[in-house]
Parts: sequence; C-alpha cells; structure tokens
Amino acid sequence: LNEIIFAGRSNVGKSSIIRIITGKKVKVGKRPGVTLKPTSIQYPDFLITDMPGFGFMSGVKERKQDIVKDKIIKYIETNTSRIKLAVLVVDGSSFNEIVERWNSRGQIPIDIEMFDFLNEISIPVIIAINKADKIDPDRMDDVIDDIVEKFGLLPPWRQWIDQVAVISAKKNAIEPLTKLIRNRLQACGRNDLI
Ligand code: GDP
Repeated sequence: LNEIIFAGRSNVGKSSIIRIITGKKVKVGKRPGVTLKPTSIQYPDFLITDMPGFGFMSGVKERKQDIVKDKIIKYIETNTSRIKLAVLVVDGSSFNEIVERWNSRGQIPIDIEMFDFLNEISIPVIIAINKADKIDPDRMDDVIDDIVEKFGLLPPWRQWIDQVAVISAKKNAIEPLTKLIRNRLQACGRNDLI
C-alpha cells in the first residue's frame, strides 16, 4: 500500500482537507491534542493518514507535545518506503506570528523541523497554506512570501508553485493542493486518485 501523510499543528485544518478530498471523516474526537496515534483511511487504495497535531495546544503539557513529535517521527521512519508524499498543513493566518514567537525564544518551530526532516529522508513535501480566507487579500503575496521564506524557500513564493498550495478548506477551495497531489502521484505512476 502507498501512503500520503498529512501533518501540521492542531487546528490548522488537516481533517477538513482530508474530508474534502476523500469524502470521509477521519477524526472521531473533537478535542485537539487528545489523539496521539496517526489515523488512516483507505482511499481508494492509498492510505491517507492524518498525523496527530503537533505544537502548542492549550491544556496540553509540553512533555506531551514532545511525545507527539517523537511518535510522528518514529511513524514516518518506520513507514518511509510506502510514504510517497507528505502534505504539511499550516494556518496561513497565524503561521508567521507563531514562528516569530518561537524564533525569539531561540527555538526551531516544529513545522520547520518537520519540513527539514522530511526533506532529509527524501519524502516529497507539499506545503499547504490553509485558511487563506483569513488573510487580508491586499497583503496576500507578502504574507505567503514570509511563510515560504521561513521554510528556507526564497521569495517570490510563486517560484515554488510546484511545492506550495494556498488554499481554504472552509471555502472548499483546495484545487491548488489537489492539483499538486495529482502531479506528484503521476510522477510515481498514478493518475486515478483525485
Ligand atoms: P485539524 O486539527 O488540523 O485536523 O483541523 P480541523 O480540520 O479539525 O479544523 C480546525 C478548525 O479550523 C475547524 O473549526 C475548521 O472548521 C476550521 N477550518 C479548517 N479549514 C479552514 C479554513 O480554510 N478557513 C477557516 N477560516 N477555518 C478553517
């Protein structure tokens, strides 16, 4: 079985996106941070996996957040050979602020750590910048430039259009992402997924 994983902080919209793509609900519990285990569904013959949300969650102890991160990394290392693609989802309306807060404490934000880790083990990554509906349209390009730059991708962001998708699950506007997933799977001989 081939697998696509969705990773990102809690509440960025991972399960909303998976629901739009597959028509299936992946998460049972509502409270973020409670699930430690990756949740997989089969669609149609791919495993689509919603990783537990990482990063700060109110009411969740810091130690538990480290446990979540370690579990995600273990899971990816164990299943590297069947993971064909990772979609790293960020909340475009809060990402820059969160990263700047981490940087000011001298810490590397988990999203960026995860991006670097996936690149190191050669799993193709798509950065899905979700909640675009919450970004001021007049500032859109600047905000997206700032986000991609934090991942080490030089602006202008449109240079990275094969790796970066600006979407809104709320508005059902995820075509830029489905297009990139489709392209990527074609590269490994599949064109019938989405
Ligand atoms: P997950 O924890 O990453 O799986 O996130 P969910 O899919 O559960 O979404 C978290 C919250 O964000 C829910 O209230 C969603 O309705 C909301 N949400 C998801 N996508 C969007 C989006 O594109 N725009 C806005 N404004 N809200 C969204």
